[in-house]
Amino acid sequence: MRPQILFPLFADVSSLKGVGPKVLPLVQKLAGPLVRDVLFLTPSGLITRQPMTATNAIEGQIGIFEVLVDRLFIPGKPGAPIKVRATDDTGFVHMVWFGGSAQHIERLLPKGQKRLVAGKVERFNNEVQIAHPDVYTLEQAGEIAAVEPVYPATQGLSSRQIRKFVQGALEHATELPEWQDEAWLKKSRFPGWRTALERLHSPAGEPDLAPEAVARQRLAYDELFAHQLALARRRRIRQITPGPVIRPGEASERLLTALPFALTGAQERAIEEIRHDLASGEQMGRLLQGDVGSGKTAVAALALADAAASGFQAALMAPTEILARQHYQRLSPMLDAAGVSTVLLTGRDTPAERRARLAALASGEAQVAIGTHALFQDAVRFDRLALAVIDEQHRFGVNERQRLQAKGDPRTGGVHLLTMSATPIPRTLELTQYGELEVSRLTEKPPGRTPVTTAVLPLARIGEVAKRLKAALDAGAQAYWICPLVAESEASDLAAAEARAADLRRILQVEVGLAHGQMAGPEREAVMADFADGRIPLLVATTVVEVGVDVPNASIMVIEHADRFGLAQLHQLRGRVGRGTAASTCLLLYGGGDNGLGDTARERLETLRRTEDGFEIAEEDFRLRGGGDPLGLKQSGFPAYRFADPIRHRSLLLAAADDARLVLGRDPDLLSPRGEAVKVLEALFDWRNDRGGVD
Ligand code: ADP
Ligand code: MG
Repeated sequence: MRPQILFPLFADVSSLKGVGPKVLPLVQKLAGPLVRDVLFLTPSGLITRQPMTATNAIEGQIGIFEVLVDRLFIPGKPGAPIKVRATDDTGFVHMVWFGGSAQHIERLLPKGQKRLVAGKVERFNNEVQIAHPDVYTLEQAGEIAAVEPVYPATQGLSSRQIRKFVQGALEHATELPEWQDEAWLKKSRFPGWRTALERLHSPAGEPDLAPEAVARQRLAYDELFAHQLALARRRRIRQITPGPVIRPGEASERLLTALPFALTGAQERAIEEIRHDLASGEQMGRLLQGDVGSGKTAVAALALADAAASGFQAALMAPTEILARQHYQRLSPMLDAAGVSTVLLTGRDTPAERRARLAALASGEAQVAIGTHALFQDAVRFDRLALAVIDEQHRFGVNERQRLQAKGDPRTGGVHLLTMSATPIPRTLELTQYGELEVSRLTEKPPGRTPVTTAVLPLARIGEVAKRLKAALDAGAQAYWICPLVAESEASDLAAAEARAADLRRILQVEVGLAHGQMAGPEREAVMADFADGRIPLLVATTVVEVGVDVPNASIMVIEHADRFGLAQLHQLRGRVGRGTAASTCLLLYGGGDNGLGDTARERLETLRRTEDGFEIAEEDFRLRGGGDPLGLKQSGFPAYRFADPIRHRSLLLAAADDARLVLGRDPDLLSPRGEAVKVLEALFDWRNDRGGVD
């Protein structure tokens, strides 16, 4: 139930004065359907207006002129600008409109009347000109703020209109009960919620709009706190769901001996953390993060064996057929040696295979299922599923994960979830995107890796690159050649990749495979499999190179137009080489022709040359990208932050995360006075039921 105190803010935007049928869709598109959404628009800057005269006007600045209207020029031909000439004691002020109605302009500026006109000063034939000025009568002088916030205007909706709506929305906003901790509030010198909004929308100067302004910080903190509360709640729900108790047993011991290597320290720590969760009696929700090649599979395998050792079943789900098969081929012999029977379930099993495997899972005879999307289909039944491991978790939707988890036995408790990701992300991102999960990080690579030598070259040196590539391929190496998505359309990207493959085939005289995003899945996987098995020496690909596919013999990676990729993405791509014993190379080719690289672009590529630490690269990428929606929050279901900037407000984010956990830990049902206020905050930032009405 939404607290009554919020009803005015959750009213439809059409209830704001001036929001008629014509502008309504524009406001809805810009802000959202509710009064609150308009209130939460943030100024993108401000304008300072100075009184000026025709002689002392400063070009490029916003001036206010008191003028006498002199002449209206209505153009003879349609499309030509409408002009008005006015005078003050010192000279002429010209006004110009490109489009618009002459009658309207005439009404605004009747000949012989005094008016205040404001706008950006331009010089035309050395006389002052203002395009599309704001016009006021002398009586309206009081309404003209010297400093006015500017909102991102859209087609058909001016900043000035938006400002009016925002001011209207502010009138709907009553002071709300204080949800922040009193001591924290004092220490941070935050104003109250409503005061903070008022200051946001009536800034006295630039500093009020800076992320460091206390009013801005207060609002940012509220927003971060609301988001962290939502995540902490999900986490709590999981924690109060009982989970099957899983402990390592004989099968786990045997698997450990069957592994052809000793675990790294990072792997050992991760499995310890996972085991702690699995034995806790609560449902586990853990993200295992580690670069490509950091050895996540072995950690997952131990968890699978633990489940089997405790008499349960477990599933390992991968996003593609080739990955699922690779997992199965590697793990089943070792699991077998440990006494754990494993089946593979993909979309390409024959009906007979499928029937037999489904039966083995339903009866509990098979203890581990490895597979693709085939795993969560309705026909799949488990006897005692207790653990779901999701590889490359970002490739699955929340629903798909949940469908697999729903296959557990409610009597033994919720199915434990271990998700794995090869995309190292900064801590900040971890908190905002995976705040409901515990995180384990594999920060150390297995031994025996040869570092990848990375070079940054202009595309103009492609001939030289081809020559060296030829020599390496002749000596038995395999290579990837990545053509990025550069053109406006996928079709022309594809054409570019095809042309590149043809070039390389001709120049290098070797077989060249091509994998791209428009290929049907099975066709693409067939090419990938040919490459993985060494039948093709060179693979040209758009960015579809399957994450996680292990081709140890591939030791060269060429990336064309590397400057157009995100750092994290480049790092991912590079991770495809350096997996075997041979020395590996990654060549980052930038630009077309021999144009240079900008400073940021250079800095970015330099980062890659300097380090192979995915976490460091992720932090750097995050820092360099800044602004916008770097967290991809929109995709994850939470709207991008309105007030908070997770980079600049990083310390607020950390505090909000602690605060959220603390509040829910102490007062899970939010019954205390602060709890009641916190409920109001949660409702205020609830975007789920935003289609108007009161639920
Ligand atoms: P990813 O984290 O990308 O899934 P994998 O689990 O596929 O990485 O491991 C990459 C490679 O490293 C595999 O060939 C695997 O056998 C090997 N490996 C994993 N752990 C170790 C280790 N502790 N020592 C040596 N090699 C290891
Ligand atoms: Mg993997």
